[in-house]
Amino acid sequence: MLQEVRTRPRTGILDVKLFIDGRYVDAKSGKTFSDTNPATGELIARVAEADYADVDLAVKAARRAFDEGPWPKMTVAERSAILMKVAAGIKARMAELSELESLDTGKPIRESSHLDIPRSAYNFEFFAELIKYVGTDCNPVDDKFLNYSLREPVGVAGCISPWNLPLLLLTWKLAPALACGNTVVCKPAEFTPITASFLGEIANEAGLPPGVLNIVQGFGPNAAGSAITEHPDVDCISFTGETTTGKAIMKAAAEGLKEVSFELGGKAAAVIFADADLDLVVSQTIRSTFLNQGEVCLASPRLLVQRPIFDEFCKRYQAAAEALVFGDPLDEATSIGSLVDKEHYDRVTGYIEIAKKEGARLLFGGERPNLPAPFDKGAFLKPTAFVDVNNQMRICQEEVFGPVVTIAPFDTEDEGVALANDVKYGLAATIFTRDLQRAHRVARRIRAGIVWVNCWFVRDLRTPFGGMRESGIGREGGRLSLEFYSELKNICIAL
Ligand code: NAD
Repeated sequence: MLQEVRTRPRTGILDVKLFIDGRYVDAKSGKTFSDTNPATGELIARVAEADYADVDLAVKAARRAFDEGPWPKMTVAERSAILMKVAAGIKARMAELSELESLDTGKPIRESSHLDIPRSAYNFEFFAELIKYVGTDCNPVDDKFLNYSLREPVGVAGCISPWNLPLLLLTWKLAPALACGNTVVCKPAEFTPITASFLGEIANEAGLPPGVLNIVQGFGPNAAGSAITEHPDVDCISFTGETTTGKAIMKAAAEGLKEVSFELGGKAAAVIFADADLDLVVSQTIRSTFLNQGEVCLASPRLLVQRPIFDEFCKRYQAAAEALVFGDPLDEATSIGSLVDKEHYDRVTGYIEIAKKEGARLLFGGERPNLPAPFDKGAFLKPTAFVDVNNQMRICQEEVFGPVVTIAPFDTEDEGVALANDVKYGLAATIFTRDLQRAHRVARRIRAGIVWVNCWFVRDLRTPFGGMRESGIGREGGRLSLEFYSELKNICIAL
């Protein structure tokens, strides 16, 4: 059914099923939920809604594939070759998956076709390659004993992902989990189920044995999400999403003492010093605040600007924000699309009202753009900025996850650093300065897992990725991902 309609996604309604033990199936209950295109409000898919019974089937299939199947026992070269074919399968569907990702999320096609889907393929290529080169230690203590370590797969990995970069963030988990020889039960976000569902047929074509990859669709609390985190046969959990969800999952995972890797919320600052290259600052902060409609965990919605350039920055930043092009997300000319969902739109615009009530001054935006039908019904929101803020306001402290920013002045380096650190999150930060020593100094003082200097969102997949404080637990990226999805065993041999 999926195959039947996927060739005409603009007009057809997709039938998205669960993928369990190598086959597309309906939910046991027969229940489905609706998935809409947020840019128009139109129904685009009916999605099988998994609950505890379906997740149990998926976990059993994954367990069987792990305990009895060939996957964990294959040579690294064999596994790597299959994952390379998965990457090729994604690439072969590049145009189709890009279009579907944009239809499902509302993001501009230029982002899904240049970032989301190519990176999803690259995630598989990268880990399929890396797994070939990671070794372990050998400690030949003396001539009586030999100690060496092995990395073994953990077992069944539960992977739960959010809606903002749906296929990219899901494959960022799947690729290392599978490369290590684990089997997986994963759940994409309920707002964006479509592209992930294609991974089933791609996996089958690539020769991934049945049960190695299982995809359940559905909701989080007391539903498919909880069913994964609570299942006794799920051995580890990798989760990307909101901090509050991470806390709930940690409680569920504690029961089975499952290892967790959490990539959670953020409220990053861009600390902009007066000596910075202002052209660069404006072009980078426009990206770091409005790319993907600001629905990026690494976004920097807190712009901290040193006082001598504050007015000039605000003027140029506003002009650049107002030049962003709204429209059909499938149009190459569109540079800012729709928020992911009407419910999320209400949440984001709710923060605009909160900010006004708190006394912040709206500098620009704060309303819907005028768009022709059918986009007049979409969840579009103009880039929005507030000034005259203080850091205790909710708009400065809470994650809005939309195109809403605050711009605040600071005088000294100490003050800039203090403001940047004055939130409960610690995922990312950006520093703009031409002063090399200051760049190093401030980068060290900022409490965040990732600090960019004079750039933003430059991602090298070998580097550590993750957050401090309430932005996460653990680091992913390169060898660190492989370490999470494997258990280190020491073997001691008497000689
Ligand atoms: P969310 O936490 O609402 O949902 C994420 C996923 O968790 C979904 O699949 C959802 O169904 C599931 N879920 C929800 N409650 C659950 C529960 N109790 N048990 C198990 N699963 C549950 O997050 P979202 O709204 O989809 O995504 C936005 C959030 O994700 C933002 O906070 C953003 O900062 C964060 N995020 C972080 C990163 C990062 O790398 N740090 C990347 C992208 C997004």
